[in-house]
Amino acid sequence: MSSSAIALITGASRGIGAATARLFAQQGYALGLNYQQDHGAAEALATELRAGGCRCILLQADIGNEAQVLAMFQRLDTELGPLSVLVNNAGILQPQSSISGISAARFAAILQTNVIGTFLCCQQAVQRMRTDLGGQGGAIVNVSSAAAKSGSPHEYIDYAASKGAVDTLTRGLALEVAAQGIRVNAVRPGFIYTDMHAAGGEPGRVDRLKSRIPLGRGGEAIEVAEAIAWLASGAASFTTGSFIDVCGGV
Ligand code: NAD
Repeated sequence: MSSSAIALITGASRGIGAATARLFAQQGYALGLNYQQDHGAAEALATELRAGGCRCILLQADIGNEAQVLAMFQRLDTELGPLSVLVNNAGILQPQSSISGISAARFAAILQTNVIGTFLCCQQAVQRMRTDLGGQGGAIVNVSSAAAKSGSPHEYIDYAASKGAVDTLTRGLALEVAAQGIRVNAVRPGFIYTDMHAAGGEPGRVDRLKSRIPLGRGGEAIEVAEAIAWLASGAASFTTGSFIDVCGGV
């Protein structure tokens, strides 16, 4: 990717999104940093990145809200320029529960962010990247989860199902837009130390999760960001419809 390439990262204020933003800034991208509520953290990240020379803007939007997503992309167009890379990182997970503890409302909320939100951002990005519409092509990287393969029984089968949908969306969209110069891939993180695991869960849950990981530890956000950055880059120019598991061998 050229040094002037423009990338949009959703859920960029913390965790894997923030690690990806820091890495992309080092690599010379101009950045649209989406966040939903945590303005203070997003502002602090933008200040840090600008101090390092990165051109970046903050884009407040709920990715599950179609009107807000459209407005976000329109601001990106006018304030940064043509989009080259979209990282669909924003996602939610509810505290663990077996099936009887999962309400239809909880499941719908997870689908609205993890699936519909990813879809809405893909839709807007593809319209801008398509070479047959005058775009320059581009790359989309979706952040799925190892849960898409395991199903996460007794923990969050709703979240796992949402990430299974992200995988299918990734595969189908990759085939649909390949001829227009757009690559679509995904990473599937395993257990990564972020705020996503800060709330909920029984005592000892983190130790139990770690004990299942062949590499013997949880991952760091930067280790996911490195895989995202590779898939977004020209180094992955012949890779589309593919998945990188970043899960310590699970
Ligand atoms: P996190 O909770 O620290 O960060 C998630 C980010 O998404 C936050 O900034 C949050 O504000 C944002 N977000 C949530 N809903 C949003 C919405 N509707 N609109 C805009 N932004 C929204 O978690 P994380 O671990 O950094 O997660 C990042 C991605 O990685 C998620 O898609 C998650 O499902 C995935 N993932 C994480 C792990 C892990 O172990 N941490 C494992 C597998 C997959």
